[in-house]
Amino acid sequence: MGVKADIGIAGLAVMGANLALNFESKGNRVALYNRSEDKLEYFMNSAGKGKNFQATSSIPEFLGMLEHPRKIILLIRSGKPVDDFIRNMEPHLVPGDIIIDAGNSFYRDTQRRAEHLKKRGVEYVGLGISGGEEGAFYGPSLMAGCSEKAWKELEGPLNAIAAKAEGKTCCARVGTDGAGHFVKMIHNGIEYADMQLIAEAYAYMRDGLKMTPDEMSRAFERWNTTPELGSYLIGITANILKKKDADTGNYLVDMILDTAGQKGTGKWTSEAAFDLSVSTPTIAESVFARIVSSLKEERMEAYELLPGCEVKELGRVSRTQELEKLKHALTAAKLCVFAQGFSLITTAAKAFKWEIDPAEVADIWQGGCIIRAAMLTDIAKAYRKDPKLENLLLSPVFRNTLATVNSDWRNIASYCIRSNIAIPALSSTIAYYDSFRTAKLPANMIQALRDYFGSHMFERIDAPRGKMFHAEWFDSATKITSTDYNV
Ligand code: NDP
Repeated sequence: MGVKADIGIAGLAVMGANLALNFESKGNRVALYNRSEDKLEYFMNSAGKGKNFQATSSIPEFLGMLEHPRKIILLIRSGKPVDDFIRNMEPHLVPGDIIIDAGNSFYRDTQRRAEHLKKRGVEYVGLGISGGEEGAFYGPSLMAGCSEKAWKELEGPLNAIAAKAEGKTCCARVGTDGAGHFVKMIHNGIEYADMQLIAEAYAYMRDGLKMTPDEMSRAFERWNTTPELGSYLIGITANILKKKDADTGNYLVDMILDTAGQKGTGKWTSEAAFDLSVSTPTIAESVFARIVSSLKEERMEAYELLPGCEVKELGRVSRTQELEKLKHALTAAKLCVFAQGFSLITTAAKAFKWEIDPAEVADIWQGGCIIRAAMLTDIAKAYRKDPKLENLLLSPVFRNTLATVNSDWRNIASYCIRSNIAIPALSSTIAYYDSFRTAKLPANMIQALRDYFGSHMFERIDAPRGKMFHAEWFDSATKITSTDYNV
């Protein structure tokens, strides 16, 4: 056996292979493992040829190739395969080993695995990684959850391969155990909402403004140069809209079936929001929108059967002005989505004692990752100004922006609602904003209803908070009140 490797990567599919090349290009010797040999063979005879790699499909051999303390990066399918793989490695692990799960694992699984391996003196690191294949190769955004001891070993090699933006490295230890995977999960939830909002803006351009894909592409290109909307996803939308289908010569986007898939991280984000009592309606709506999109046959039937209203002709409006309004609507909505995501992060940080710095999260999302956006510079600024900020929307950094975009946001949404253009994400951001800034919500009616049928009691406007009352709405047989829970 030759010189020991600095780092090991298990799982040589698209992410593992690209990350391995990135590590090797920074001067690391890399040991590779893959369950099936064909991927290893292909890699070693193509992109990996002549480079500093050693490869095997045997776990003991793989571990034996590594320098101590052994750094073992997993890039295998998340869920049961990760548990199976850890179980297979366990007899060969020694105290001091560091396992880095860089897949999209559920943060609760990461907490469980970290707890289990700690008993054996093995460090378990949940490493959120974003940027897809390109990011893995050129520089991803990295969000680590681990002990300080493990971070001392990893900081150097991970910083070296990470993306750089605004003079900073997009890599940080955001907390312990599941913190990295939690932050990555929220990143993906925001990504779901961001993409849904882009799709809704595209629907307005296509069905309302009757723009061609080429015209839309130019609008997205312009937006991509602005501090409000400049972002990776807006940029690639401009590219997508330009692309022609090689077979038909039509725009490719027009040839793609309108059904979106999902792998579950948007659903996990929404579940975490319910668990932690944080309002993230736009992220949840974006998951539901994908579910509805998958009901293609039912939707076609419903189109024939159900009443609606025709798309209202916009008449001789200035397209330039309408696009400016749409830009304002997207700006406001995007800000609300970030507000929802960051609220979930700061709430989880308190609940799990992770001490996540939201400004640092905004920093590491500025490069390499899918949701990188110019707006994150101001988000980082807002949290640096006030690290205890309860909701991003309250920051003075964003108040002027919200004042500027507020009425156009509503105009675009109301046109879409009157014209049968489905905007679940855009409309939910308005509902989120309005609910949040309403000093007197109608929830007094909900509490009255709850007390009426279930004796759940209510607080009064003329009594201290927490003091509960019950009304005799009708002639009750028992006079017993219910134990309540507050959300
Ligand atoms: P996949 O998620 O498609 O996983 C394929 C890899 O998992 C293969 O190497 C496969 O080995 C291995 N594998 C599956 N089951 C087992 C098992 N029981 N034991 C050992 N190995 C197993 O690959 P990706 O590269 O797309 O993703 C890797 C991880 O990174 C996933 O968790 C994914 O969610 C995450 N991720 C992916 C991104 C992307 O853009 N693709 C972006 C960010 C994170 P074999 O070849 O033998 O089948």
